[in-house]
Amino acid sequence: MDKKTEDQIKSQGRRDFFKIGGGLLTGSLATNFLGAQNSVSKDKASDEKKIIRYKKLGRTGFKASDIGMGTTRFKHPNIARFAYDHGINYFDTAEGYHNGEAEKNLGKALKHMDRNKVFITTKVHIDENDSKEKIIQKFNACQKRLDTEYIDALYMHGVNRVDFLDHQGFHAATKKLRQEERLKFIGLSCHGPHNEKQDSMEDVLCAAAEDGRFDLMLLVYNFMNSKAGDRIIKACKENNVGTTAMKTSPGVLNFEPVDPDNLTKSQEKIVERLQNIKGYSRRRAIRSMQSTLEDKSELKKIKKFAKKYELQSELEFYKTSIKWVISNPDLHSACISFNNFEQLNALLPLSGTELSYLEKRSLEEYNSIFNSEYCRHGCQECLSRCSNNVPVNRIMRYAYYFQCQHREKDSMRKYYKLENNAEYCTNCEAPCVEACPYDLNVPVNLLKAHDLLSLT
Ligand code: SF4
Ligand code: SF4
Repeated sequence: MDKKTEDQIKSQGRRDFFKIGGGLLTGSLATNFLGAQNSVSKDKASDEKKIIRYKKLGRTGFKASDIGMGTTRFKHPNIARFAYDHGINYFDTAEGYHNGEAEKNLGKALKHMDRNKVFITTKVHIDENDSKEKIIQKFNACQKRLDTEYIDALYMHGVNRVDFLDHQGFHAATKKLRQEERLKFIGLSCHGPHNEKQDSMEDVLCAAAEDGRFDLMLLVYNFMNSKAGDRIIKACKENNVGTTAMKTSPGVLNFEPVDPDNLTKSQEKIVERLQNIKGYSRRRAIRSMQSTLEDKSELKKIKKFAKKYELQSELEFYKTSIKWVISNPDLHSACISFNNFEQLNALLPLSGTELSYLEKRSLEEYNSIFNSEYCRHGCQECLSRCSNNVPVNRIMRYAYYFQCQHREKDSMRKYYKLENNAEYCTNCEAPCVEACPYDLNVPVNLLKAHDLLSLT
């Protein structure tokens, strides 16, 4: 074996090893592996890779695939076509995903589908004073981009106050759109409050389930963050409301281990930015990124866990966390953000499956090891303790977008727009720590998030 080949093998071995580690904790487990390629040809998917379980979406009566397609990272219509050909019939999008491009791509894919056999939901942000006309305008723009005669459901995007459920403009607009048969159902999504004056995800969505006007909910739900979700799902079941889950795998702010000789695509992007914007040499840019992203003690814990459960890749664990979500009989569909064929090929066979005993054990153990490292999406427990009004949960969610969904630019842009960011934590005595029921070291996690989200 020549020296070059030997080096390549060593380097690959090192990388596979790290992949197990980094992925497991970050929840980007799957995204590193899955985001790697986008070139698997259509005929590589066998017929076994098909959806086999469909559940009735509450009072809509539509039978939705237990794995649905989210479009936050969706950039090509062929992905949705492929999903449809393999049985996915629930597609979730929003006006804001890629500035409307996700809707446009879904619209193109729709031409390939039997429109009556798929369920399309889109979401719009509603401002407090939006009139009926304004909301109809927003809907019209969505409908145009989706290029479809009707939309199955319109969601209010990211509602964080119970009083929004009575939004006059929204109800007047959707009533008219339903009369015109351009809209069938309404729903809402929620990520939890941004400040202490807003309401929790549980309060908003349980109130919406009982309200009687909303047909569908999109909620945060995964094996480490299920308490509020379980209550919401119960309320929805009692009121015959359809439920779909997002953030189905917990993302823990951590790191994507850096092998300077084999940077991942997203690491390359960060290095480029540091070179362009800060004028660093490549070496310095890599070092700077490394110090931000890596945490050796975490890596040790991950390695131990992966060894115990004989996990060969991050993907295995990611699949287990999705299985946990879809095996809840009262939840109707898991909204997975697919952006390539490999993801679809890997996750489609999960449809209809249940967790094995060992898989359940692995999730329980993961939960206990990493309990104090995952800031629960939708949680607001520590918000009232911060006199600087730092939106803890929101910042941690942006870090999740960066690491787990590889939405680097988008998450940095969102972070940049925040009025109060994690810089406040530098010289703070951190009263928020006492308020966290999961014992998170809040300032440390926030400062890591700050480094990550302000790399440029
Ligand atoms: S460390 Fe201080 S500034 Fe940062 S979130 Fe906690 S209370 Fe707020
Ligand atoms: S740090 Fe703890 S209390 Fe604060 S939002 Fe996250 S999980 Fe909730």
